[in-house]
Amino acid sequence: MKSRRDLILEEMGLTPVWRLRDSAPGAEQAPVAAPAAIVEPSPARREAAQPAPITRHSSLVTDAGDRRATIMRMEWPGLKAAVASCVACPLHAKRNQTVFGVGDENADWLFVGEGPGAEEDALGEPFVGQAGRLLDSMLSAIKLKRGANVYIANVVKCRPPANRNPEPAEALACEPFLHRQIDLIRPKLIIALGKVAAANLLASDASVAGMRGKVHQYRGIPLIVTYHPAYLLRSLPEKAKAWADLCFAVRTMAGLGPRKTAG
Ligand code: SF4
Repeated sequence: MKSRRDLILEEMGLTPVWRLRDSAPGAEQAPVAAPAAIVEPSPARREAAQPAPITRHSSLVTDAGDRRATIMRMEWPGLKAAVASCVACPLHAKRNQTVFGVGDENADWLFVGEGPGAEEDALGEPFVGQAGRLLDSMLSAIKLKRGANVYIANVVKCRPPANRNPEPAEALACEPFLHRQIDLIRPKLIIALGKVAAANLLASDASVAGMRGKVHQYRGIPLIVTYHPAYLLRSLPEKAKAWADLCFAVRTMAGLGPRKTAG
């Protein structure tokens, strides 16, 4: 007999319900990913994939190094205030509010998406629409939940108009904020949700299909790439692959050592 949760998710079009393989005896198993390989972006590739320099807001460009250095020294309160008042890229003009990120600031797990949509812009929290509900289901499937050992953030903190992808210059302007968030959280594992997040964190133009199933590195932190929940809502057959990615992430996390200490 289906549980209430199964029925709700079925009603939302989010079936099959995600389950950890040891939590549902007899449940159908999705295929597992190929053995992990550690993949480091080459310096030349990282340089080649860097977004184009910002050509507008020239005073901010001039001060980009100072701005970055200032952000890199911020603690949580200052960082949140800096994001809330940021006008460093054109996305500030049409936002209702910035969407900083949410969750456990000492989390082992960090999930990174691309940017806020309309509902996130209205509520100020990432992943609160239908894609957010799917992300919550994905977290639940691996016995995680938002806010408990999990932090969720985006590449850009302001909503790109019409839900377009952030421009490279916008992502570049916002990158110090995400960089500092990651420094403060010190997660054990980063999950990049979708191509925009993966491209910006890994400085790669490879497809999600080409990046998934491997353990990459973001400044020494293991990083796994999977599909963005919004893409999964449009491409339900890919859910089996995303499930395999989550199983791979759980296995990867199980093999990681203790958290890095600050310093
Ligand atoms: Fe600032 Fe980031 Fe918003 Fe651009 S997207 S205005 S860099 S907070």
